Amino acid sequence: MKAAVLYDINTPLQIEQFALPNIENDQVRVRLVASGVCHSDWHVIKGEWPFIPVPIILGHEGAGIVEEVGSAVNNVKVGDHVVLSWKRNCGLCEMCQVGYPNLCDVPADQRGHPHFPESDRQMDKFNGLGTFSTETIVPQDVVIPIDKEIPLPQAALVGCGVITGVGAALNTANVQPGKSVAVFGCGGVGLNVIQGAMIAGAEPIIAVDILDNKLELGQQFGATHTVNSSQVNPVEAIQELTDGQGVHYAFEAIGLVSDPFKQSILCTRKRGITVYVGHAPVNTPVDFDARILFLEKMVIGSFYGTCRPRVDFPRLLGLYKAGKLKLDELVTRVYPLEEVNQAFTALGKGEVARSVLDLT
Ligand SMILES: [Zn+2]
Ligand SMILES: [Zn+2]
Repeated sequence: MKAAVLYDINTPLQIEQFALPNIENDQVRVRLVASGVCHSDWHVIKGEWPFIPVPIILGHEGAGIVEEVGSAVNNVKVGDHVVLSWKRNCGLCEMCQVGYPNLCDVPADQRGHPHFPESDRQMDKFNGLGTFSTETIVPQDVVIPIDKEIPLPQAALVGCGVITGVGAALNTANVQPGKSVAVFGCGGVGLNVIQGAMIAGAEPIIAVDILDNKLELGQQFGATHTVNSSQVNPVEAIQELTDGQGVHYAFEAIGLVSDPFKQSILCTRKRGITVYVGHAPVNTPVDFDARILFLEKMVIGSFYGTCRPRVDFPRLLGLYKAGKLKLDELVTRVYPLEEVNQAFTALGKGEVARSVLDLT
């Protein structure tokens, strides 16, 4: 198999040939068909997540076809189409038992390492998946079978960006019909928060970004109003659109700087919910006047869309099939694995909702 390796931060990924070990009883070998190119991979490339060691095979938003299963595997069979979850789901820890497998205690499985054919030197895989590759070996609990009629490039996106955004609206915040929403950031995740809010029946849905092309995308995904925060104060603009009250729910879906997070708290109304979806670089400080919380504002983080992959991935793909969830429109560009670095250039320039690698 071949895979794209990050050898050092701020260097281009390199395509390498690898061999895979034999699978163990509880493992599944998946032939990957598509992988989304996500901001999290980019954080690693730029050295913003130093807790991820290099060299590493990047990619964590993948879909493919089951090629081989271990003797103890009982949730998928050879030939099944699957989406991979980048979070373990042991089923036994406290968080799994109380219905939050997105916060499972068990770390990514590091078995099934690819190795160089001639040297036996092994390579790590991002989140235990490493989906910028043509094949991967993973534990069965991260393999989610899906409807074979769903195209795999679209399905791949559900494994990270789509569930992170839609799940933040539907699961973390539990947005209610007729209530107001503001979404800061109209990138791959923010667009999915917007369409999650639309599925929930929110009104109005206010998209905030500094790029007009991103705001237009926001409207395509369900935003009823747009605010260009490079031109106007977004907090004042949102208050004007909500009779001076602020929104019931505000989402920060950027994760690069602290200002939008502060603004998202400020524009939330009394007893409203601010959801922090973006994953900032480590040690990003946020300062705001703590007294604002006396308005009984609730601030909550959202991790992986508070998802239960085995329930939520098929459910979202069902919404896609019914024409209620946009996935085709997210796949802005498709690149072969060899052009993965061009995909990151496009991501860095904010040119795309999502790029997908074709791994066939
Ligand atoms: Zn991701
Ligand atoms: Zn668990």
